Amino acid sequence: MQGKVRNMQNPSKIKKVMPLRILVVDDSPFICRFIKDILEKAGYKDVLCAFSAFEAFEYLGIENSEIKAKIDLILMDVVMPGMDGIEACTKIKSTEHLKDIPLIMITAMTEDEFLEAAFNAGAMDYITKPLSKVVLLTRIRSALTLKQEMDRRKAREEELLGVTRLLEKANAKLQEQTSLDGLTGIANRRRFEEFIEMEWKRARRNTKPISLIMIDIDVFKAYNDNYGHLAGDDCLKQVAQALQRGLKRPGDLAARYGGEEFTVVLPETASDGAAALAEELRSLIEGLNIPHAYSSVKDVVTISLGVATIVPEDAMSCKTLIERADKALYHAKQRGRNQVRVYSPALTEY
Ligand code: GH3
Ligand code: MG
Ligand code: MG
Repeated sequence: MQGKVRNMQNPSKIKKVMPLRILVVDDSPFICRFIKDILEKAGYKDVLCAFSAFEAFEYLGIENSEIKAKIDLILMDVVMPGMDGIEACTKIKSTEHLKDIPLIMITAMTEDEFLEAAFNAGAMDYITKPLSKVVLLTRIRSALTLKQEMDRRKAREEELLGVTRLLEKANAKLQEQTSLDGLTGIANRRRFEEFIEMEWKRARRNTKPISLIMIDIDVFKAYNDNYGHLAGDDCLKQVAQALQRGLKRPGDLAARYGGEEFTVVLPETASDGAAALAEELRSLIEGLNIPHAYSSVKDVVTISLGVATIVPEDAMSCKTLIERADKALYHAKQRGRNQVRVYSPALTEY
């Protein structure tokens, strides 16, 4: 026994627990003093004494959450005038910034009903009176070890939470980047496919029309061959940005389909509206006045557009819409470029 007590006063251990602050709450100044002496001799140099629950609340800053002294452990007498230890414990444990402080009851009562009430109030442990120095120190040491472990775990959890948040942010950014075309900054093919699939289903559910415009820059190979690839890239950027600017509704999407081809998806848009917008886009690109001396169509960059509209039925897929718009585009090219053609079954006869 003696050896154990001496072991507890091992200087390396004392050094470890030195910064810990313990609050002793007991209406008897004699018992407070007695406990403080034992603790101080065991190396716990920072021991505060409160002679009532209210005085303890002052130390803890229970009313205004302004913590006057950071407490690592509370030793609480049970029978005290004004407010008893169980009630005080309940109040401390229901206060957000104090609820994790380990609290040990000091009591002469060991009946089951009393112990149940103490544990229900949130006490971590109890020590019986008359006080034994060995029991007191052993219980305090395990309570503090547990608290330190809990604090470490909490810090790790917070750290993990921080890392998770950073990852979520990075993922959102990545998601955004993978939806955008690197050269032009508008939606890419992947985003287009995801979007048209989603809008196709919505149109089917609501029995609404959905329109698609397929766009291709006219004689662009000649533009590249003569002005160079960098100028070609710059032209693609200008056309893409203009197409995006030309859209009217926030629900519409302009995307780069590949190479010098673009698409515009127009949810809840009937054929007339889609054809009118396509004509506006054609005129907008022509109006950019990007010189193209090698075009067989005009002396500026122009586009050809194919429009298709469908009210989706169960058996259909959005591939049909893409195929039809593509057919209309092909027809616009055949008819001389720099124009809009709207799909109709008659087009297939060409
Ligand atoms: P048409 O009027 O029939 O569409 O003729 P076109 O010359 O535009 O058609 P074609 O498909 O033969 O040529 C497309 C050209 O677009 C080929 C290539 O030089 C150019 N191109 C495709 N992707 C890019 C790109 O990312 N950057 C640049 N600079 N040029 C590209
Ligand atoms: Mg092409
Ligand atoms: Mg082309």
